[in-house]
Amino acid sequence: MSSIELKNLVKKYGDGFPAVNDISLDIADGEFMILVGPSGCGKSTLLRMVVGLEDITSGELDINGKRVNDLAPRDRNLAMVFQNYALYPHLTVFENIAFPLRLAKGKHSDNEIKQKVNDAADMLELREHLERKPANLSGGQRQRVAMGRAIVREADAFLFDEPLSNLDAKLRGQMRTEIARMQRRLGVTTLYVTHDQTEAMTLGDRVAVLKKGVLQQCASPRELYEQPVNLFVAGFIGSPPMNFLPARVEGNTLKLPIADVELSGELAEKVKGKNAVIVGLRPEHIKDASLGDNISHGVPFKAVVDVTEWLGNEQYAYIPFDSDPSLQGTLEELDRDLDGEGMRTQMVVNLDSRSRVREGQEADLVFDPSFMHVFDPESGDCLT
Ligand code: ATP
Repeated sequence: MSSIELKNLVKKYGDGFPAVNDISLDIADGEFMILVGPSGCGKSTLLRMVVGLEDITSGELDINGKRVNDLAPRDRNLAMVFQNYALYPHLTVFENIAFPLRLAKGKHSDNEIKQKVNDAADMLELREHLERKPANLSGGQRQRVAMGRAIVREADAFLFDEPLSNLDAKLRGQMRTEIARMQRRLGVTTLYVTHDQTEAMTLGDRVAVLKKGVLQQCASPRELYEQPVNLFVAGFIGSPPMNFLPARVEGNTLKLPIADVELSGELAEKVKGKNAVIVGLRPEHIKDASLGDNISHGVPFKAVVDVTEWLGNEQYAYIPFDSDPSLQGTLEELDRDLDGEGMRTQMVVNLDSRSRVREGQEADLVFDPSFMHVFDPESGDCLT
């Protein structure tokens, strides 16, 4: 069993704003946990606190139920898995994997080392490559050698800090699959830092989303996507991102820039008393009405398409809209928080490749209001 428990962890550098602000997380045995967020949100600091490279200002860190705040990194039995630059080019794969065992001088006999390296190589499908040098391996194989080192040490957990950030897109995709496959096979508890939401969504059993040192939501990728707790998580998770439409509330009517939506039931209750809200709509929940796909209770609207992008299996249409200037404040702030990835006064629609929507022409579109996310414009919290 290897669990990691973060209890109210705080990290302050000097007198400034805490880089990590009261974060609590339980990482279960065998779980693949992702820390994700934009640059400066504190994810690397948090990982470094776990591995022991940063002091903990306050809070408690437990590994397998034991407090380790004051243990040196080497005594925490965690393995940082680095990208290929951490392999020794002059050593064979065998010697690279054996390295941590040789380092513990006299602790392991030659036979023992051989056994452990061979076992790790079997698990990682590296047996045929043990005599090669790193230069003669593919990127994926090098990644596995790096994991092999962590395995022979019998580390309680693997920690990754943005291991794929320097790779081109194709290799990054391959390596992502490789890491996922190996982690599932080995069942090792894993903590993985990335700023890339695709990596987070595809790799993680659970994903912890951080903003300015504060944990926003920790949930499965599906839950983050379908039930984001606030505007920040909604805007960060998903590519292309969720559309945000400021809307006035008039009685039971939501007046969106593209259409009016009549509210009933629970949602009507939740927006009662508010003058305005921000409505989130994922690009795939807006359809081309002319294709005749049946959306019961769909809200139809017409819009002029600015730009289309055809990708073969799908296409994106970009549609500008006029927004109420008095509602832009929250969205501009959110735009800054998301490094400019989210808000603009345009929406993106992910259309079926059959759609004949054209640039510069008016399109008949429809969306299903049951997929709307409704946010409080002041707090950014999701009301639905
Ligand atoms: P990135 O993706 O850019 O690496 P991050 O989310 O990993 O960002 P951290 O590197 O953890 O963020 O930094 C969190 C905050 O702490 C930032 O505001 C950063 O400037 C600050 N910080 C990090 N290391 C130090 C340090 N040694 N001294 C002072 N401030 C620091």
